[in-house]
Amino acid sequence: MNRHAIVIGAGLAGSSAAQGLAARGWTIDLIDAADAPGRGASGNLAGVLRPLPSLDDNRLARLTRAGFTQACRHFAALTASGQPLRWAPTGVLHLARDDRHAATQRLVVERQQPAAEALRFVDREPASRLAGWPVATGGWWFPGGGWVDPASLCRANLARHAAAISPHYGTEVAQIDRPANLWRARDAAGTLIAEAPVLIVANATGAKRFAVTAHLPLRAARGQVSHLDAAAASVPELVVCRLGYVTPAIDGVRCVGATFSVDDDETALRDADHGENLAKLDFILPGYGSRFAASKLDGRVGFRPLSPDRLPMIGAVGDAAAIDPDAPSRPLAEMPRVAGLYVINGFGARGIVWSALAGELLACQIAGEALPLADELVDAVDPGRFLLRGRSRRVRTGTAPLIDGHAAKTPDRHRE
Ligand SMILES: Cc1cc2nc3c(=O)[nH]c(=O)nc-3n(C[C@H](O)[C@H](O)[C@H](O)COP(=O)(O)OP(=O)(O)OC[C@H]3O[C@@H](n4cnc5c(N)ncnc54)[C@H](O)[C@@H]3O)c2cc1C
Repeated sequence: MNRHAIVIGAGLAGSSAAQGLAARGWTIDLIDAADAPGRGASGNLAGVLRPLPSLDDNRLARLTRAGFTQACRHFAALTASGQPLRWAPTGVLHLARDDRHAATQRLVVERQQPAAEALRFVDREPASRLAGWPVATGGWWFPGGGWVDPASLCRANLARHAAAISPHYGTEVAQIDRPANLWRARDAAGTLIAEAPVLIVANATGAKRFAVTAHLPLRAARGQVSHLDAAAASVPELVVCRLGYVTPAIDGVRCVGATFSVDDDETALRDADHGENLAKLDFILPGYGSRFAASKLDGRVGFRPLSPDRLPMIGAVGDAAAIDPDAPSRPLAEMPRVAGLYVINGFGARGIVWSALAGELLACQIAGEALPLADELVDAVDPGRFLLRGRSRRVRTGTAPLIDGHAAKTPDRHRE
């Protein structure tokens, strides 16, 4: 096979897929409408990396644990190869929302017995010492977690095998088709941008504009982060979360976030959202946010690509046109697929922790190698799942919960 792929999107999803294939000797045409990698959701100053568990150790938690392990391995390899990845394993303190949540957090640690260097429960006093600020509850302490500059991760992914990756920035794909055995990407004028036997759709909710991926139930969740001026070595010097997060000072700026509103396409910063972030900050570190005025803050807006079951979409695209809605349901393994077409998307609020694993999984699938994930989790992230009978009906009628049982702008427990 001609080992050549087109990747649409140069965020965490596209850059991870490109680097996974380039590492295996493939050449890539990487296309992004923006003028550089990491300008969409992947362009925040910093996001949080930690392996959030759940009491029932569900698929989301297992995928996140595997993603965290792969991310740490990948970051070490990027750094060792001289790439300027910006991240810091400061540790992440994830405080309980209330006493009931603290009891659950404690139970998770008792039941799952994680290694102490991965996760511990700390009471309020040691939690306050870690934060450098008096906090209201104890919480999970992830000593190996930290913050990551996601755009630097995109750049490092692409720089590692730069000779194999031809970027086309400032180029928007308007149309994709496969008239013979080659996928073609064209701009709005119909001009050919690239052609290759494999096409990877990694352009977040932009995937909805292509007929072959329009069935994927992607939605956007607007997120606003607030930037606070912060002196170096001021507290907190680690990431602290509690229905929101605050980072250490990074180049004189501390990030506080983030808001979460679905199908809200406002790109400008809103003072009300800064106010919401300051309230979150006060919930995390009581009294800390009152020193700042919402109207004076800077920040950034991004749009997370959400999937209805909160799991990402990684793999071969199902052929919606080839499925007879009246035929008996067939298992995922027998689903017809669109030849040469793959998707890596739906990272929601976990792109930083999932992207290295997702890129590796997709590259292994395309290259026909053993997969780095248990079969059950491979199926859980298979984009074909949305074409299974019953499943697609639930998604269409909106009976599948969008995020943790909430369909709109509500706080949820699974965000960054
Ligand atoms: C406020 C906020 C806070 C977050 N915090 C965290 C966190 O703490 N931890 C964590 O793990 N994750 C976090 N995330 C989530 C993470 O950032 C996302 O999951 C991730 O960035 C999504 O990556 P992506 O590559 O799918 O999308 P994007 O980064 O948006 O990339 C998609 C790219 O496709 C391009 N594109 C779109 N359409 C076209 C087209 N037709 N032609 C060419 N190019 C196109 C766009 O220009 C863009 O560059 C956060 C996200 C937000 C918004």
